[in-house]
Amino acid sequence: MNIKKELNKKIKLLGLRNKQKEYSYMVCTKEDITISNFLGDCPDPNYIKYRKLFPKNIEKSLKTYLSSKEHKIQLKYRPGRVISSSELNKEIKIIRDIKDKKLRTKLNKFYEKVRKKMNDRNKLTLVFMPSKKEKKRFEKVLIHELMHELMDENNLRMHDWRWNEGLMTYLEYKSKEFIKKPKKEKNKMWNAYAQYAHKWALLFKDAKTPKDRYEIIKNKAKEINTKKH
Ligand SMILES: [Zn+2]
Repeated sequence: MNIKKELNKKIKLLGLRNKQKEYSYMVCTKEDITISNFLGDCPDPNYIKYRKLFPKNIEKSLKTYLSSKEHKIQLKYRPGRVISSSELNKEIKIIRDIKDKKLRTKLNKFYEKVRKKMNDRNKLTLVFMPSKKEKKRFEKVLIHELMHELMDENNLRMHDWRWNEGLMTYLEYKSKEFIKKPKKEKNKMWNAYAQYAHKWALLFKDAKTPKDRYEIIKNKAKEINTKKH
């Protein structure tokens, strides 16, 4: 798969602005990405369940999470993220309080690498290191995360993760698949993704041009982001 070509197709489809000529990303271990998602504000319910002790007892929450079944699922599922410089600073601050030296050193090393790679940019896409078998999935995850980054750059990130992930899901699969109401499956996260991809498919149904689609996203983002939480 040609990543750049795939991205350009999606950028065109949605009429996005794209200032980047080259895409920059960092390959990390699945565990490092998952931990950073846990420490950050990732709204996935699998994390939230274990973040209840935040911010008082982060170390205990993290360790409980690391030995949970949700963590194992998460490692298989979607190890990728976009990290901003302010999130990076926040997370570096958080790990200072971890007393377990081994864990703290491991995380320090990881965040130091991220900081170096991010350099003077304000965002960086992180994606898991694939085995030979995982090459296809790696490319899909990479495009998914780079698209999140592009949506951020276009100020189109919504303050509701389901709408963001739904849009990414709509883009990842052939959009026509989502015109019909998706069947419920065992994976709760997937159901949320599919349900919101369906909502996007309906919103885009009569859109003819990239500009139409761009306006639809812009209006939806405006509607969601001005709602009181
Ligand atoms: Zn996503």
